[in-house]
Amino acid sequence: MSAFARPVIAGNWKMHKGPGETAAFFAAFLADVRVPQDRTVVFFPPAISLGAARDALDERRDILLGVQNIHWESQGAYTGETSAPMAADAGAQLVLCGHSERRHVFGETDEEVGRKTAAAFAAGLVPMICVGETLEEREAGSLEVVVLRQLDAALAGLADSEVTRVAVAYEPVWAIGTGRNATPEDAAAAHAILRARLRARIGDAAANVPILYGGSVKPENAAALLAASDVDGLLVGGASLDPAGFGRIVNAG
Ligand code: PEP
Repeated sequence: MSAFARPVIAGNWKMHKGPGETAAFFAAFLADVRVPQDRTVVFFPPAISLGAARDALDERRDILLGVQNIHWESQGAYTGETSAPMAADAGAQLVLCGHSERRHVFGETDEEVGRKTAAAFAAGLVPMICVGETLEEREAGSLEVVVLRQLDAALAGLADSEVTRVAVAYEPVWAIGTGRNATPEDAAAAHAILRARLRARIGDAAANVPILYGGSVKPENAAALLAASDVDGLLVGGASLDPAGFGRIVNAG
């Protein structure tokens, strides 16, 4: 993702907004929000609303779209799943890989996240690899072990040239949807760990890999988090559902 301007401000809508609500969101967002040209804005709507988002953004190639999940196979008997080539065909440019809700609600494993990351590249999608520790793991002092295990597994099947083009999101599980965000210092510390691991793999090119922070980002805390060292963007869940509120985050800092 190094070709994209930073900071990267991304909205993960989770399982919110069907096609009609998606059209209504973008009608309001595009009318009221100025999107700065020196940053990258990405939306991850539900897959079923991707077409509505693409239609709404027809003239706005500066705003990118992604899907929240893919299957690693390109087609087959996988009822209910979406493949990476299908997502790309429908207008996605990115995909979230290993979001904590996929890991903890749907039991997705590190190995499966690695397969999805490789499938994303094969279809021309940029994977945004999500990593993060639970509160229990943090309190046990395992943050570093957990996030590096998740990162290594996600990158395992990629060539070094592909690793230079991923995006990473540090999303501590205890901060997602809880209203309790990490402090800028917490985020900077975790991001430095991830950056060092990327540097060990791809050298100086690691500086170009955007590492986003996610977890209870709001208009009120976005600027401080964006100012933290090694924080190259924000992945926003609940607060991305409101056009005006997300507009403030898009323009934060
Ligand atoms: C997310 O879903 O990636 C997320 C960070 O959620 P929230 O902002 O609601 O904590």
